[in-house]
Amino acid sequence: MVNGNGKPMKSKLSGFHQLDAEEKLDLIKKFSDLTEEDAEVLQRTGALDMKSAEMMIENVIGTTEYPVGIATNFLINGRDYLVPMALEEPSVVAAASNAAKLARPRGGFTATSDEPVMIGQIQLVGVKDIPKAKDAIMLNKEKIFDIANKCDSVLVKFGGGVRDIEAREISTPRGSMLIVHLLVDVRDAMGANAVNTMSERIAPLLEEVTGGEARLRIISNLADRRLARSKAVWGKETLGEEVIERILDAYEFAANDHYRCTTHNKGIMNGIDAVVLATANDFRAIEAGAHSYASMNGRYEPLTRYSKDEDGNLVGEIELPLALGLVGGATRTHPVARIAVRIMGVKSTKEFAEVVASVGLAQNFAALRALANEGIQKGHMKLHARNIAVNAGATAEEAHAVAGRLIGEKNISVSRAKEILEEMHGQS
Ligand code: NAD
Repeated sequence: MVNGNGKPMKSKLSGFHQLDAEEKLDLIKKFSDLTEEDAEVLQRTGALDMKSAEMMIENVIGTTEYPVGIATNFLINGRDYLVPMALEEPSVVAAASNAAKLARPRGGFTATSDEPVMIGQIQLVGVKDIPKAKDAIMLNKEKIFDIANKCDSVLVKFGGGVRDIEAREISTPRGSMLIVHLLVDVRDAMGANAVNTMSERIAPLLEEVTGGEARLRIISNLADRRLARSKAVWGKETLGEEVIERILDAYEFAANDHYRCTTHNKGIMNGIDAVVLATANDFRAIEAGAHSYASMNGRYEPLTRYSKDEDGNLVGEIELPLALGLVGGATRTHPVARIAVRIMGVKSTKEFAEVVASVGLAQNFAALRALANEGIQKGHMKLHARNIAVNAGATAEEAHAVAGRLIGEKNISVSRAKEILEEMHGQS
């Protein structure tokens, strides 16, 4: 049996997790024919040193880096923000900054958000009398809250804790189930660990009072009690009436076509994920919540809405769940994440969510404006020219000059970059 690299080695590496990072890497080098140089690249950790990385996940052999860019011009609820964004895709940071600049003349973004309430789900099966079981849960509310709050005295000290409990029946091919929702205010945390612990801890009492058997006990990533909203007005004197009409047509395309809607929402997440990543938040949770929320009405819909106000200006709005943390997870252990939060200057997860929602709206507006006019490729490819040059083999020093020529010649392609490099090398 051979591995993906054609070598007679198995991926079953017993005891791998017990090796130190150096030993792990030695094995990987053999498995995948890595060179010394490859190994050095993997070990060249940036701000996140190997020891910290090893505390975050398992089987660590290195770290990876993303550029961190700053989106400028954000005016949100009358305050100025600079927003760190970590991602690999060119033109996203520039587009967000430009959209935020165009929103400033009419006051920038107005954002609001719900209290940071997350949902813990407890699945109860085998409940004989579901209406009676629901009543029993409500009768034992105080006792349940008490058990849950005792799990996290720190959270309670910071003003968080259980807010409510709900129960509903679902019908499935395997019979009826009673689903209990524990609503927990998680304050400055994303909340998954806190809520999962509480959900597990209250399950025995739920079993006792309902006569059912608790199975899954875990947070829901559809954080629909924790929505963030943002709104901006882009003036007709800034955009021009025709552009506004085109943007509205582009929006209706997304609102009425599943294929376009997916890309529309992807554009929103370009901005949102980048801030989430820069702050070492759980981007899988944010992504899952966003797309699930987009389907709340039974069909997949845009997370933004566009309309014209009575004066003919463009009004953009966004609403989505944003379960973001300023404490917990890796947000305080990743050194860059800590600095990213300080750059933004947000003091609560509510304020943080309002900034992130505004970035999502700005990103979407920028994409629609470009798509509805000249297309995104002109601006995007200009910014992508340096990547093309590097793909063609340019060194970091050569990339700038090659990109300049590609843009000047309006031929941003790897083949042309290769020709230019050959010319340059011929001259040197
Ligand atoms: P956590 O457990 O690391 O930290 C949260 C804890 O910090 C709170 O429970 C509280 O005790 C304490 N705390 C201190 N100051 C606080 C304040 N001001 N406000 C609130 N809490 C304060 O993190 P978490 O937020 O409970 O969980 C997030 C992590 O869980 C992420 O790493 C995520 O990836 C992971 N996770 C996610 C899922 C999911 O989304 N389905 C499931 C499991 C784990």
